[in-house]
Amino acid sequence: MKKIWKVLILCVMLSIFCVGCKDDEVITQDKKAEEKTTEKRTEIIKQKTTQKASQKTTQNKKETTTLPKEEKRIKIAIDAGHQKKQMSEQEAIGPGADKTKPMVSSGTEGVVTKRTEYQVNLEVSLKLKSELIARGYDVYMIRETNDVSLSNKKRALMANESGAGILLRIHCNSADSQSANGALTMSPTSSNPYCKVIAADSQRLSECVVSTLCRRTGAKNRGVTQTDEMTGINWSKIPVTIVEMGFMSNPDEDQKLSDRHYQTMLAEGIADGVDRYYQREGEKNAEK
Ligand SMILES: [Zn+2]
Repeated sequence: MKKIWKVLILCVMLSIFCVGCKDDEVITQDKKAEEKTTEKRTEIIKQKTTQKASQKTTQNKKETTTLPKEEKRIKIAIDAGHQKKQMSEQEAIGPGADKTKPMVSSGTEGVVTKRTEYQVNLEVSLKLKSELIARGYDVYMIRETNDVSLSNKKRALMANESGAGILLRIHCNSADSQSANGALTMSPTSSNPYCKVIAADSQRLSECVVSTLCRRTGAKNRGVTQTDEMTGINWSKIPVTIVEMGFMSNPDEDQKLSDRHYQTMLAEGIADGVDRYYQREGEKNAEK
């Protein structure tokens, strides 16, 4: 009996040992299998990531090669003439000039509306800004409020440093006779002692703007006036024009100049001139 018991106990112990061993083995095998799976997964993920990365690179390359070269945007400087506060101190009318003029005046006033020129100039300038941006230009505004202290020389220097290709100086005119009406632009003469180099381009810019402005608004075209007396022109290093949009001394034109719809036409007309100056195709100045 004792022997049988011994054998039985031995058998049980052996079987437990074997099961234990097997379990260990199974666990090890399972672990190995798991490790292998994880390795495989990691490998797949790695491959996928590499694939994605290379796809991205190819895509990027494609994008860089298929995208058209970004056209350099033209920047236009707009100077809404005058300001609320007059600056009567003197400044040289051009580089190296002995002659001086007051830094900046507050401009003229509407004979009927009694509105100030600096207000009207800013209203049209802001519309012009929107119009030019809509046509794909960048715009640099010398001022966007009436409460500034900027002399005419300072305004020209700001435009010079802005990276703009041209400077548009927006003004309204005034005359002793109330009957005087119409628009004109101003440019330097070819013998201007301060800015001769921009004279020809300024003349062309002035011609473009006055003709498109008058076509758009129906205002009388008074042509281009040449002058070497304007501080804001003489200090300019980029082609420049003064746009006298109309006479605030003329009752009819004074009211038009403050009319929102007419102001929009003025802005479009000036923008047409910029398009024409840069010989931009699809210029929006098709007859309306
Ligand atoms: Zn003015």
